Amino acid sequence: MNHNDCIFCKIINGNIPSAKVYEDDHVYAFLDISQVSKGHTLIIPKIHTKNIYETPPEIAKELFAKVPIIANALKEAYNPIGMNVLNNNEAPAGQSVFHLHIHLLPKYSESEGFSVNWKTHEDKYSATDLQQIAEKINEAIKN
Ligand code: AMP
Ligand code: ZN
Repeated sequence: MNHNDCIFCKIINGNIPSAKVYEDDHVYAFLDISQVSKGHTLIIPKIHTKNIYETPPEIAKELFAKVPIIANALKEAYNPIGMNVLNNNEAPAGQSVFHLHIHLLPKYSESEGFSVNWKTHEDKYSATDLQQIAEKINEAIKN
């Protein structure tokens, strides 16, 4: 089920060119045109899903199974010193293409690749707070 107006569906169909890294019945992987660092790769499901929220377990299973395989191939090919695996969901979190994708971002030096820039707040949460937060999320899990 591909979406006519989706750029990644067009890439899967061959209507927009891409530098293909890997393909099977369920998954397509290709170089991100922005190349944040050399080998920056996107892994996408062939069935269109908007993002992680809309992705059923069967599609996730096929997609995520390929992440370590392609990450190891990228490591072997270019020998990065580290690798960030990133998935952005919804515009405020940086999603700009609304077809689920996993970024593989090889890290070659402190300045080359993705930089983690988050504030930590461990001093603001007690063990009880953490238990309550965990329980609330757990109660919302739908199997
Ligand atoms: P995100 O911002 O997480 O939604 O990532 C979307 C990514 O898709 C960006 O890093 C873009 O550089 C990449 N992108 C957009 N169009 C193309 C294209 N035609 N070929 C390869 N990568 C693309
Ligand atoms: Zn799509």
